[in-house]
Amino acid sequence: MNAKVWLVGAGPGDPELLTLKAVKALNQAEIVMIDDLVNPAVLEHCQGARIVSVGKRGGCRSTPQAFIHRLMLRYARQGKCVVRLKGGDPFIFGRGSEEADWLSEHGIEVELVNGITAGLAGATQCGIPLTLRGVARGVTLITAHTQDDSSLNWSALAQGGTTLVVYMGVAKLADIRDGLLAGGMPATMPVAMIENASLPQQRECRSSLAAMQQDAQAFQLKSPAILVIGAVAAQAQLQLEALRA
Ligand code: SAH
Repeated sequence: MNAKVWLVGAGPGDPELLTLKAVKALNQAEIVMIDDLVNPAVLEHCQGARIVSVGKRGGCRSTPQAFIHRLMLRYARQGKCVVRLKGGDPFIFGRGSEEADWLSEHGIEVELVNGITAGLAGATQCGIPLTLRGVARGVTLITAHTQDDSSLNWSALAQGGTTLVVYMGVAKLADIRDGLLAGGMPATMPVAMIENASLPQQRECRSSLAAMQQDAQAFQLKSPAILVIGAVAAQAQLQLEALRA
């Protein structure tokens, strides 16, 4: 029996942003192990699969990573078709590579399926072109939440000329602001904070580097949210409603 685990990105939330390959994997799955940030609506593509929730939101109830590893291995060795479903893309702040490596080391074949990562989805859904020609020469995905609490190279980030997209930043807004200001980024740098990107309850708060923490507080910004920091965040909002109508 060729044991195999599909490591699949569920995208940012909107079930229509799943890839066709993800849908194919979900169709075939006998076991689906899902994280908290996965929209349960995507499970409509699973036919009779057993759904196992192994979410771990920062600071809350958690399923230890070692337990998730062992569970995936056990199901795979039983010959089950296992889908490990993660929010966004499995390899962007998702610990997907740790899981893939561990499975490979234990002789389990892994098939990787991309998902649309929240940062890219959120920006585009708000009409923000992350790499606008002449404005941003690139985009840098960062998290303010490091495993060892080491600090980021704020000057490099502040002066790199790329748009910054910050994951897991809601509880760290003051640190991010202070770091980037100290690193030389202008206080007026535009910021967009996007909560629940791609979902019907998506909300968006436009601000500046200096004001983002207070503005987020007034807005009651909650996780999951991404921050887009850079000149592109000031782009006029597209008339998305008009386009959709
Ligand atoms: N692998 C995921 C990221 C997991 S880290 C991906 O590629 O998208 C979790 C962080 O992702 C959250 O703290 C938040 O910053 C971001 N995130 C995930 N889903 C989101 C959503 N629908 N809207 C805004 N941010 C989201």
